[in-house]
Amino acid sequence: MAAVVMDGKALAAKIKEEVRLRVEGMGRKPGLAVVLVGEDPAALSYEAGKRRDCQQCGIYYDTFRLPESTTQEELLDVIRLLNSREDIDGILLLLPLPKHLDGREAALAICPGKDVDCVHPVTMGDLVLGMDSFRPCTPAGVMRLLEEYRIDPAGKRCVVVGRSNIVGKPQAMLLLQNHGTVTICHTKTPDLGEECRRADILVCAAGRPGLITAGMVKEGAVVIDVSINQDDQGRLCGDVDYDSAAEKAGYITPVPGGTGPVTRAILMENTLTAALLHGKR
Ligand code: NAP
Repeated sequence: MAAVVMDGKALAAKIKEEVRLRVEGMGRKPGLAVVLVGEDPAALSYEAGKRRDCQQCGIYYDTFRLPESTTQEELLDVIRLLNSREDIDGILLLLPLPKHLDGREAALAICPGKDVDCVHPVTMGDLVLGMDSFRPCTPAGVMRLLEEYRIDPAGKRCVVVGRSNIVGKPQAMLLLQNHGTVTICHTKTPDLGEECRRADILVCAAGRPGLITAGMVKEGAVVIDVSINQDDQGRLCGDVDYDSAAEKAGYITPVPGGTGPVTRAILMENTLTAALLHGKR
């Protein structure tokens, strides 16, 4: 039987509408600042998407587009300025940064109370300790998709393919906090297929088109494809061989239209949370 397709666009619209309604009733609006250094095309299009999302939700939006030649001190100055601005509740530093800039130092400069993209070690530490804090947008979006489709990770075997700081590691932590039994796979995993076939919930975030074939999917499994890649024809695709995996899975996310839109919606939600933390009502 073909899998239930998990509709990320619909969930994202629902989350953004909830944020919009909440913001509409606030006297002081939440604010998001996006910092972009250089002319990376992916970052530029990402920035335009954030602007649209903020417009839809009634969130104040400001962009800092800095030239490629920006020095580390200039970048840190911008972040410090945004830390001090009361109209700004969330700071998003778009990656990649030009090679001469130190992204780690820049992330450390962001005040944790404005770290809506969860790049600061304090935010990540809170996540690991299970403290109340912002949740990284993509993994938190995956959890919301599971919730929306009433899929409870408790007692399930969860396999996460990928161990990056922004997706794989926090994803594993959130599944663990929700009582899943979690395995994290990476390039040194000897038999990826064997690990994946054991998964009741399989989250793929390797950034490798075609990596996950139907033969690696357990009958009835939940398959969440986080990756956003381009195939040979330049079309967007994930890691999962979607058509064949959809014949075997119980639930599956499409690419595009799966985790991507939910990630963006969670950023809006995190910005609202930050504003509430800053006493805006
Ligand atoms: P990343 O930093 O490149 O990490 C990729 C991870 O996958 C690494 O841990 C790597 O293992 C592992 N991996 C790569 N090839 C593998 C293989 N053949 N077998 C097993 N593991 C393998 O990527 P990322 O930033 O986490 O992003 C992953 C994907 O998600 C990308 O396609 C990105 O565009 C997408 N993404 C989507 C969203 C969204 O909103 N949906 C948000 C962020 C990212 P090693 O550690 O051993 O190298």
